Amino acid sequence: MTDTIAAAPAVPTPVPTPVPPAGSEAGTEQDARWLTAAVDLATRNVAEGGGPFGAVVVVDGRVVGTGQNRVTRDLDPTAHAEVQAIRDACRALGTFSLAGATMYTSCEPCPLCLAATLWARVDRVVFAADRHDAARAGFDDSAFYALFAQDRATWSMPVVAHRVDGADAPMRAWLDLTERVRY
Ligand SMILES: [Zn+2]
Repeated sequence: MTDTIAAAPAVPTPVPTPVPPAGSEAGTEQDARWLTAAVDLATRNVAEGGGPFGAVVVVDGRVVGTGQNRVTRDLDPTAHAEVQAIRDACRALGTFSLAGATMYTSCEPCPLCLAATLWARVDRVVFAADRHDAARAGFDDSAFYALFAQDRATWSMPVVAHRVDGADAPMRAWLDLTERVRY
């Protein structure tokens, strides 16, 4: 048996983890038109004292809701443009489901807004600027995405699970309700 010392394999130059692709599909010219409307809402909102975010909800080529960031004006940290647009669209359509709709937003939805669009059952989301543009402007979208990717035990905001007696009572009450409205 012969000992051989293999030449150390060349250490590949570390490749930085690529930023995931911004979207899962390419936008269309029609998308560009609605995005421009969302961007205009966002820019106008800055002039009116709001945050630099705007969104429009479109169903069958028609705007059914619009939103601008109203966090500071309305003293509402959840008044993000997409949330506002969802509320506006749902009020206009008299529904809590936006199935069949597309959300056009001036900037990549933050985790709150992405979850809100999922809850609203929106079909598709199209955005213009991204989380990195938002970060450069001082917003935490990118930081929150990074946080969600981390173990919760490392968060500066403790999230405490404490299963008190009756913790499952609301869910049992819901399941016992024969005429519950599913959403
Ligand atoms: Zn948001």
